[in-house]
Amino acid sequence: MPHEIKNYVAGRFVASTSRFDDINPVDGSLAGIVHEADKSTVDLAVQAAREALRGPWGSLSAAERGAMLNQIADGIEARFDEFVAAEIADTGKPLAQARTLDIPRGTANFRFFANLVSTSGTECFEMGTPDGSGALNYSVRKPLGVVGVISPWNLPFLLLTWKLAPAMAAGNTIIAKPSEETPATAALLAEVMHEVGIPPGVFNLVNGFGPGSAGEFVTTHPDVDAITFTGESATGSAIMRAAAGNVKALSFELGGKNAAIIFEDANLDQAVDGTVRSVFSNCGQVCLCSERVYVHQRIFDEFVARLKDRAEALRMGWPDDEQTEIGPLVSTAHRDKVLSYYELAREEGATVVTGGGIPEFGDARDQGAWVQPTILTGLEESARCVREEIFGPVCHIAPFTTEEQAVAMANDSAYGLAGAVWTTNLSRAHRVARQIEAGIVWVNTWYLRDLRTPFGGVKLSGIGREGGVHSLNFYSEPTNICIKL
Ligand code: NAD
Repeated sequence: MPHEIKNYVAGRFVASTSRFDDINPVDGSLAGIVHEADKSTVDLAVQAAREALRGPWGSLSAAERGAMLNQIADGIEARFDEFVAAEIADTGKPLAQARTLDIPRGTANFRFFANLVSTSGTECFEMGTPDGSGALNYSVRKPLGVVGVISPWNLPFLLLTWKLAPAMAAGNTIIAKPSEETPATAALLAEVMHEVGIPPGVFNLVNGFGPGSAGEFVTTHPDVDAITFTGESATGSAIMRAAAGNVKALSFELGGKNAAIIFEDANLDQAVDGTVRSVFSNCGQVCLCSERVYVHQRIFDEFVARLKDRAEALRMGWPDDEQTEIGPLVSTAHRDKVLSYYELAREEGATVVTGGGIPEFGDARDQGAWVQPTILTGLEESARCVREEIFGPVCHIAPFTTEEQAVAMANDSAYGLAGAVWTTNLSRAHRVARQIEAGIVWVNTWYLRDLRTPFGGVKLSGIGREGGVHSLNFYSEPTNICIKL
């Protein structure tokens, strides 16, 4: 019997007559049956969230909420292997990654924000007044209210909890809608919330799609106060329009077309290692992945040859094989999109250095959503494959001659999420890093970040910043109280 994934509303697991399949992209097998939330289920969830905001959750202190978030983290750790298995069944990602990154980071998000909310203060200003007695201004953080959390499929648990934990820490109540491709770890989290006694209505889970389904019902609901969304830029635009009706607060982490710049003075071993990771991690399905690689012309041929060798050596395999380095894409629909870009690249005149197709296994994986790691060269900067986000294990490598040219090429994008700079010249590192139009720039590394730092994108890549106190600020309404002394 396939596993059934229900909605969680007002502290109860709720079935639905409308159901859809949750498919394992490794081999196309059925991972679960998902109950789709209809409009009345979303309405009930919002009503329960509103009541919990006024009632039990709203009356807890920040330290008490923090203690409950730590209990959620304990509950996830107690069922760690189930979370790992569920994430793998939905995404096909390697066991080693789910075990060391996705689930531990998702758990750490609860502990991090539990600690932060218990230790963060607010502002206080003393001011003079004409009568000489003065006044005291201090601010208090109040919850935003009922928050809709809409998350994508690439790092399902990590990205859902990155929003949930600070939103709950700040005292909000939640309507969460995970991606229809990857609902399993969110459903397990609902069970943990239930087990540890999170009051009914604080965390509600509704499953479904975007337009005409749970996603739209949440974003258009007049009693939802804020939407925090991670996903494609085009979906962000649609949500912005939907949320305009009652002027909801919005936090958006959107798409990217990130550049990596490899200068001629880079440590080439480190630059190749780092670029293998930044292009192919999670089968290229990380919003921070590099899809545009700019390499100084003097080292261009050597860099391309070395990246080719490394791409061809990546081991594609079953998730539970400890040797596996790269899994499938999330779905056959997404595979078809990535393959259409491989085809478009050829039409646009690219040289396919390696990859460009589907691997053949001769077993059940041939029914899965696999594509080959792919390296392209020779495209104009105006080519669609250089301008549009592909979100697969693919990059285009182009040469440059001067630092100014490299910066200009990196910034010539509608997106601005992340950048990577590889150089051993300290002055150049500082000079170039601050010129890159992106929310985060790495120098001689990639995907390394302190959770207290601001995270987000510019241009089409998002609105607002998450991380540390930046998250608490978004999920709170600061209110100034001015007292005449
Ligand atoms: P997506 O936009 O297709 O879907 C994301 C979520 O939005 C899903 O839960 C989906 O059901 C929902 N949705 C879709 N249409 C909707 C609508 N009209 N109204 C309400 N909800 C709707 O994104 P995806 O394909 O799941 O994820 C991949 C994208 O996410 C890539 O563009 C990637 O760059 C981006 N991403 C960004 C970050 C970041 O931090 N900036 C992180 C991860 C992924």
